[in-house]
Amino acid sequence: MINKPRGTEDILPKDSALWRKIENTIHEVCENFGYGEIRTPTFEATELFERGVGDTTDVVQKEMYTFLDKGERSMTLRPEGTASVVRAFLENSLYANPQPTKLYYIIPCYRYEKPQAGRLREFHQFGVEVFGAARATVDVEVISLAVNLLERLGVSGVELNINSIGCPDCRPSYNEKLRAHFEARKDKLCETCLGRLEKNPMRIIDCKSPVCGEIAQGAPKVSDHLCESCETHFSSVKSGLDNLSITYNIDPNIVRGLDYYTKTVFELTSNALGAQSALCGGGRYDGLVTTLGGSETPAIGFAMGLERLVRILGQQQEAETNGCDLFITTIGDVALQAAEKLAYTLRQSGKSVQIDLLGRSVKAQMKYADKIGAKYSVVLGDDELGEDKRVKHIVNLKNMQTGETKEDVLIAELVNTSDWGTFFNE
Ligand code: AMP
Repeated sequence: MINKPRGTEDILPKDSALWRKIENTIHEVCENFGYGEIRTPTFEATELFERGVGDTTDVVQKEMYTFLDKGERSMTLRPEGTASVVRAFLENSLYANPQPTKLYYIIPCYRYEKPQAGRLREFHQFGVEVFGAARATVDVEVISLAVNLLERLGVSGVELNINSIGCPDCRPSYNEKLRAHFEARKDKLCETCLGRLEKNPMRIIDCKSPVCGEIAQGAPKVSDHLCESCETHFSSVKSGLDNLSITYNIDPNIVRGLDYYTKTVFELTSNALGAQSALCGGGRYDGLVTTLGGSETPAIGFAMGLERLVRILGQQQEAETNGCDLFITTIGDVALQAAEKLAYTLRQSGKSVQIDLLGRSVKAQMKYADKIGAKYSVVLGDDELGEDKRVKHIVNLKNMQTGETKEDVLIAELVNTSDWGTFFNE
């Protein structure tokens, strides 16, 4: 027996209904907000992520699925969506269209992490990226899209935390203060953070090690060191959210410690998720498009973990059964053939219909129809077959929820009526 790789999941039919509901709601919300779906390859040149995600991140340093292909090129299974979308934006000259470019995606991602509840090696993200709009209005639009999705799905207990992390004008002097803070406590920092000290001290604030976390507690806050332009932008984001009655907390500990991240950063967390409480992370990254070879283009986006959303919604609601509209119980081979034909006709007209595939007894078929949540059932058997062994034109239609039976329903009528409830309302 070969098992699935560690940190991966099978999504079974009992759960896929919920996945589809989430995906359908994402498509609906994105359409309402005017975002177009983009699909990019599952693997890309490794260098794209080294440059696009940043070579001081845990993702790039420790977690990428990197391999040499048969042409000796280094390829990586995408650990996130943003870098690929920026590449596609540039490669397909989407900047030449009327701006802004508003994109979304639903993708599998791969990270070699230590698997635990809510942390997988293959997981799915819904993400949004907007290019070519620098104003706070777009920050508010992107955040409100994420909030509205969760609202429409009925996710409760979600908190929005926001922060501003400055720009290339104010960040360098803040980094100096931060470096001085950590330099003084250098002997206690973990090895990875020691490496970050010179290149990217803000990443130390994000470190998962408890000791580094404690040292970071007393560090200067970036929100206290913003330039005037960043202050104004952040105020506009806050008043924009107030205008939409979206509540938020200001959390100075959210940093996306990479050079190309600028100004607004945000997170959505859920108290239903336990230790892995982050549901969604996003921010403005005005410097990334140039890092990946494009001309200066403001941009903002977020990514939301779908497994975590499924977990919350799965806890909140009873799993929905797939159900079916009609189960046709059959007695004998001739009736089965007639049932196959009737089922096929009804399925062609959009009804979900099931028949016995195992040669069960009539009693067992009825039990099965009940178990799978069939809404209606009919029996085709000797009684329903005419003298010449052809199917009669009438059946008794049973409403499985109420137990009522409507006798002598014409099969032609069954085929032509879209709502079978009407047979019982007469
Ligand atoms: P990130 O790209 O790290 O900002 O992650 C964005 C979102 O993806 C997080 O808030 C999580 O909901 C989800 N996520 C990230 N890593 C994992 C993982 N290993 N397993 C499951 N979900 C993840």
